[in-house]
Amino acid sequence: MRSKVSLLLPLLLISLLSSYSSFGWGKRGHQMVGEIAFRNLDKTTRDSVKKYLEGTTPEDAATWMDDVRSDPKYGYMAAWHYINIDKGQAYERNNDTNIISGITFAYNQLRQRSKLSREEVKTSLKILFHLLGDLQQPLHTGYKSDRGGNDVNVTFNKATMSLHQVWDEGIIESQNITLENCLDQYRSFSEQQINDIELINYVVWLNQSRTLLPQVYNFKNNTIDDQYVSLNKAVIEQQILCGGIRLCALLERAFRK
Ligand SMILES: [Zn+2]
Repeated sequence: MRSKVSLLLPLLLISLLSSYSSFGWGKRGHQMVGEIAFRNLDKTTRDSVKKYLEGTTPEDAATWMDDVRSDPKYGYMAAWHYINIDKGQAYERNNDTNIISGITFAYNQLRQRSKLSREEVKTSLKILFHLLGDLQQPLHTGYKSDRGGNDVNVTFNKATMSLHQVWDEGIIESQNITLENCLDQYRSFSEQQINDIELINYVVWLNQSRTLLPQVYNFKNNTIDDQYVSLNKAVIEQQILCGGIRLCALLERAFRK
């Protein structure tokens, strides 16, 4: 990770050049995570990542796991997108298949990349690019009882959708959240806060997403109003930014000799 100032300059440039307007949040949020991470890697790591991605852009790497979701060949990855833990319960390390085991698998693959095929390394990179985004979406780390908000129907912008959808797509689409919005959040962080965010600990990251859940469920009459949207727009921007910073830190560690 480069210094705070040098991080901002290239990103500002990218934000002027990039247009995400044709994508839904799912795609757009993941792309921003991938882009923030890739552009801020140290040069050695960035060159390695670029080599193994073999022409796949960081944005496409970040959305790949969603793109292949309906392909039975990748069915074994389905449970890696999330973890559901009942309200009041804490994460416990076990042999379950979930987002933590998915990230752990992909990271370990990258560490032993010299023994793997180029294709296996590429796949592991794409898994990390995606899952570091999912881990920051509080409802991908939500309660088992309502399947991460999938079973909660709410009214949002006069339409009925699940709470999960509001967080996956609804707010980012209606508010047109951009890379620049995420960088505004970055500017409000101190160096110390940035250092804390990039400290590698999957469980800390998971728990940080889960601390947002009471706020995610803080609405009345199953209605998502303007106040909720403006409050949580900032949360989503912050989470996307954290995803990028953390993915960057993780990749740099994975490619360290
Ligand atoms: Zn996902």
